[in-house]
Amino acid sequence: MRIVIIGAVAAGTSAAAKARRNDDFSEIVIYEKDRHISYSGCGLPYYIGDEVKKIDELTPRDAEFFKEKYNIDVKILHEVLDVNMIHKRLTIKNLLTGETFIDTFDKLIFATGARPFVPKIKGIEQRHVFFLRNVQNAIDIKSFIQEHRPKTAIIVGTGFIGFEVLVQHS
Ligand SMILES: Cc1cc2nc3c(=O)[nH]c(=O)nc-3n(C[C@H](O)[C@H](O)[C@H](O)COP(=O)(O)OP(=O)(O)OC[C@H]3O[C@@H](n4cnc5c(N)ncnc54)[C@H](O)[C@@H]3O)c2cc1C
Repeated sequence: MRIVIIGAVAAGTSAAAKARRNDDFSEIVIYEKDRHISYSGCGLPYYIGDEVKKIDELTPRDAEFFKEKYNIDVKILHEVLDVNMIHKRLTIKNLLTGETFIDTFDKLIFATGARPFVPKIKGIEQRHVFFLRNVQNAIDIKSFIQEHRPKTAIIVGTGFIGFEVLVQHS
């Protein structure tokens, strides 16, 4: 049995680990288009606020960890472009090399998560406007603050994430 999972953050890696616990023999592969896997999104505001000093603290597990502990292959920087459900095939792009190739599966799990809602606001595409969703976003925000030392900022969105970022900077 070949189990393929798309997405390697919370849902994808826990589905893979559970699949391994249920079955020692399946091939389990995860494709992740990003570079960071199995991280704690909850800690991102604390990294921006400098309470968490190093981003590695939020990303303790890498592809080697999953290979060694669970015999799961995690392919980072690999984007799934197309899924053929009838023939059980995936088209995947290696984002490092640009190479596109086909893989097959017996079972497929989508753990592709969510994206931030981007309102149609003039100027939103400018380099000093950020979204906070993943590790790279947090690195970009913190780098900008350290480099430019801005005196003011606006946080759009007053859910838990907006407030956590606010509290970290007040
Ligand atoms: C700032 C912040 C703070 C948070 N705080 C908390 C908290 O305190 N408590 C809490 O419970 N939750 C919190 N969350 C929410 C939590 O982080 C998410 O619920 C969790 O990350 C969801 O995991 P997921 O695996 O479902 O999806 P995601 O984290 O969205 O991961 C999906 C992955 O799939 C990959 N992917 C998508 N499409 C493809 C494709 N075609 N090919 C290859 N890969 C693909 C994406 O690159 C992504 O890495 C927070 C989130 C954020 C952003």
